[in-house]
Amino acid sequence: MAWLGWHLSSELPASGGQVILNCSHDPVLVLLAYLVACAASFATLDIAERVGYAEDPRSQRRWRWVGAGCLAGGIWAMHFIGMLAFQAPIPLHYDLSITLLSLLIAFVAAFLAMDTLSHAEPRPWQYVSASIGVGIGIATMHYVGMAAMSSSAHTYFAPGPFAVSVIIAILASAVALLLSHCLRTGSGMLHQLLKYATSLLLGGGIVSMHLTGMWAMTLVLPEGVPASLSEPNNPLQLGVTITVITLLVIGSSVSAALADRKLQHKERDLCRVNALLCQLDQARQSLQQVAHYDPLTNLINRRGFNQIFAEKLAEKTAQGGKLAIMFLDIDHFKRINDSLGHDAGDNLLRVIAGHIKSSIRSHDDVVARFGGDEFCVLVNLLDRDEAQQVAERIMQKMKAPIELAGRRMVMTTSIGISVFPEDGQHCEELLKHADLALYQAKANGRNGLHFFNEQLKTQATVALQLEEELRNALRDNSGLLLYYQPIYDLRTGQVTKLEALIRWQHPTHGVLAPDRFIAIAEANGLIAELDNWVLRKACADLAELSQQGCDSLKIAVNCSPLNLARPELADEIEQALRSAGVAAQRLELEVTENALMGNLTNTLVLLKQIRALGVSLSIDDFGTGYSSLAYLKRLPLNTLKIDRSFIQDIPDSTQDMEIVQAIIVMAHTLQLQVVTEGVETFEQYRFLERLGCDFIQGYLMSCPVPLAELRPTLNELNQRHLSHPVSPLSLVRDTDESRLPGPFPGSPGHRASASIVRPGH
Ligand code: C2E
Ligand code: CA
Ligand code: CA
Repeated sequence: MAWLGWHLSSELPASGGQVILNCSHDPVLVLLAYLVACAASFATLDIAERVGYAEDPRSQRRWRWVGAGCLAGGIWAMHFIGMLAFQAPIPLHYDLSITLLSLLIAFVAAFLAMDTLSHAEPRPWQYVSASIGVGIGIATMHYVGMAAMSSSAHTYFAPGPFAVSVIIAILASAVALLLSHCLRTGSGMLHQLLKYATSLLLGGGIVSMHLTGMWAMTLVLPEGVPASLSEPNNPLQLGVTITVITLLVIGSSVSAALADRKLQHKERDLCRVNALLCQLDQARQSLQQVAHYDPLTNLINRRGFNQIFAEKLAEKTAQGGKLAIMFLDIDHFKRINDSLGHDAGDNLLRVIAGHIKSSIRSHDDVVARFGGDEFCVLVNLLDRDEAQQVAERIMQKMKAPIELAGRRMVMTTSIGISVFPEDGQHCEELLKHADLALYQAKANGRNGLHFFNEQLKTQATVALQLEEELRNALRDNSGLLLYYQPIYDLRTGQVTKLEALIRWQHPTHGVLAPDRFIAIAEANGLIAELDNWVLRKACADLAELSQQGCDSLKIAVNCSPLNLARPELADEIEQALRSAGVAAQRLELEVTENALMGNLTNTLVLLKQIRALGVSLSIDDFGTGYSSLAYLKRLPLNTLKIDRSFIQDIPDSTQDMEIVQAIIVMAHTLQLQVVTEGVETFEQYRFLERLGCDFIQGYLMSCPVPLAELRPTLNELNQRHLSHPVSPLSLVRDTDESRLPGPFPGSPGHRASASIVRPGH
């Protein structure tokens, strides 16, 4: 078989010729060839590793080409240097085009190798076929390269060594592919050492393949052609030059791969840092959300509000303009929570938040929830009237019925407003003033709005002063007094009960009505002490009245709603009765409807304990609160007191007359006695008598009087009945009441009819 001038045959031609025996290899060049082969192997391993790490397909493709270039260049250079190392005693020439063809073949084989290595997990058959392909490619490159050699001799190849060289090429390729794949991942010193060792092994494989190929070759000089010395050339210099160039190219490719890997690491680190920063940012945002937003309504909370408020205030201070700060409180929200449960309360708050949000005009205005049922709105204004319009809109919106727990509720709200810059320059000041205005709006009967004014500030200062003085008065037991108002039994015509009403003999303001200080006591934790003082004083006064012969009189004392939440109340009552030596049956406790709306179960337990002592219970101000038949039935009550507000317009209001009649009928049905409060006229008296009301209490009978004046008042009232029926002339009045400094219209004495006279008149 002959191809490109060489022959594959186990037999040399019989026609004769001269076998060139003294062919040799320059060991230095063989060493250089080995070096280049090792370098090419190392570069291939390294770049194969790089291909494995590349994430971007474009970069993977790029590195595949570079790897193929390195491998092809390396093997080819090794082969070329190996050929240079070959020394024969005849001139040898190389055909350039065939040499370049061998380079192309080397490149195809190398690309096939890199392509196999770029698969993440090549199958075994892929390995086998690639190894065969690459091995044959390398062998082809080798033999084509050898075919480029031209000389006067004929080239013969022994099939045995030829086959061995091809097998070596295939095996070397298989080992190279396998090890490259194994070494694609991993790091550290051991990994690097393994790579070096593998490179040496592969280099050895490639060189052995080359040398086996050379061993397979026999040069036969045709007869008549003289063996001559090869033309003087310098293969060593050429070999070194090619080695240096090849190593430089391979070195730069490996360095580029290393640099690219480092860059990729950096990029990956950067990505990781970026991802961490993103996470951090998200965490910061959710913290911000938690810190500045109310999770229930998704409105901003107090902290978030304060931040925006400060910014807005700075902006308005610099650029001019007005701001309204509105404090909102949902009227009687606690009742919803207490009666329908917290879930219903939460739903209600969400609906209300939506109502408030939809009432404001621009995105520039801010709605916040401060907690509970407290909302705050910040409105940009051109003039003060706008604040009123916005507040009215909110109140109007709030009145839309809300479906809640299967019921339709109509809620109202109280709003306090302060305006920047008139009512303050700083956030805290403006908020405080809006709060004062809200307090006033609530005091005015709720469901209304109130603007801050300087008078409120004065009142707040006075309240602060009063709180301090009340604390001292309780501590020193000085200045607090009990007045008693007779409760007249319509059937017997006798005063059978008294209501104990507290007064405060203030050093500078004179006698103060409870409206001036009960709320202060309640707001500042003094109410339990105050009511306990009343209880003990009333029991002591009962004992004294007994000594004066009034041993069947009962006294009713008022109990603050806050006190009904204290389980120790029953013990305190028992102790007060015991220390005064008074029968429990002579004491009555007046509780308001709203006090019962708290924790009804606990309250019920406490009320039953009090009833078990023998103390009577009456429900005060009936009709002003929830007036629910359901709880009236469940409570251990004795008496129901109809609120003064139902009486004051009788006989003018027929509606009120009907309401009072209905309440009396209902109370009697529930076996409750009825006391009607605030009876001021004879017509009212006769009306109630006609309806079968049990007791009446009011200025028509008597104002509250101090204990010292009680005897004559009682005598007067009881005796008048015996001689004449009650007439306007029989009315009794306490002068102190009319002197009470009260800012509130309707304080005792103010609404009394002109027929009220002094006791004893
Ligand atoms: P209340 O329990 O509804 O007491 C009745 C109030 O109506 C008393 O006002 C009484 O003076 C007034 N009044 C009675 N008859 C008439 C009338 O014919 N016309 C008018 N216009 N008013 C009348 P006062 O004494 O100013 O007490 C106001 C409220 O203060 C009481 O309302 C009660 O809720 C509370 N209070 C009074 N004393 C105490 C107390 O010792 N402890 C507690 N916690 N609250 C008290
Ligand atoms: Ca009362
Ligand atoms: Ca009352």
